[in-house]
Amino acid sequence: MSKVIAVANQKGGVGKTVTCVNLGIGLAREGNKVLLIDCDPQGSLTISLGCDEPDRLDYSLANALIGIINDEPVDVSRGLIHHEEGVDVMPGNIELSSLEITLTGIISRETILRQYVNMARELYDYVIIDCMPSLGMMTINALACADSVLIPVQAAYLPVKGLQQLIKTIGRVKRQLNQKLQIEGILITMVDNRTNYAKDISAQIYEAYSSTINVFETEIPLSVRAAEISASGSSLYVYDPKGKAASAYSSFIREVINNGTKSWSESKAV
Ligand code: ADP
Ligand code: MG
Repeated sequence: MSKVIAVANQKGGVGKTVTCVNLGIGLAREGNKVLLIDCDPQGSLTISLGCDEPDRLDYSLANALIGIINDEPVDVSRGLIHHEEGVDVMPGNIELSSLEITLTGIISRETILRQYVNMARELYDYVIIDCMPSLGMMTINALACADSVLIPVQAAYLPVKGLQQLIKTIGRVKRQLNQKLQIEGILITMVDNRTNYAKDISAQIYEAYSSTINVFETEIPLSVRAAEISASGSSLYVYDPKGKAASAYSSFIREVINNGTKSWSESKAV
């Protein structure tokens, strides 16, 4: 059975894209068929996986979604990039920005991506969606079609306000559009273990949320090598296989595979 995970946080620079790359490729290395979908007009996921100029692609996620809006037959495999580390990528680019505006005026605007993803479910074990840093229409679409949301949080400041807003939005989507939506968990990223500050933040996130939301035991360390992978076009498992970030992502994936998702309801969390 396929599982669809949306990686979301309306704050930028928290490690969503790096997490998508290493989660997706890590799952593929375990023998799973994996599709990564780039829902960010900046195309960072697409660039990270070796496509230098996503804005010049002939066909990308926006084209597939416009096809769905126009009731045209859509081939789910069209436009996919096959990455050498065993994942497929549906690229995203600047055209998603104008699509966001188009979406606001159409019927079923929150569930256009769901129609694409439901076709992909037939072909893949995991579909991982890299969301843009906003709670706009594309992110709502991602939440409306996912089985769970993974929330990367940077261990740099206390992100309580932003997190509460995100959790509220997830609750709203769950009530109105996607009752089976779960929270996969909070993943603490860019942890600088040399500082007490990072440990304090982890402890505070754990204290505030772990009774209602899964907080992954594995934390992703701050790592220069992790910051370099976007330019390398590969995952940490190839770029820096013995490094601490690669090994952290491996144990995080073990948690994702083993843990399932804690049953979550908004009333418990807010
Ligand atoms: P988002 O998708 O949430 O905007 P990114 O995954 O693009 O975040 O990460 C933001 C920046 O931090 C990027 O420059 C990325 O290379 C860097 N980065 C991501 N994870 C780490 C890490 N574990 N250690 C150091 N830098 C990281
Ligand atoms: Mg990103």
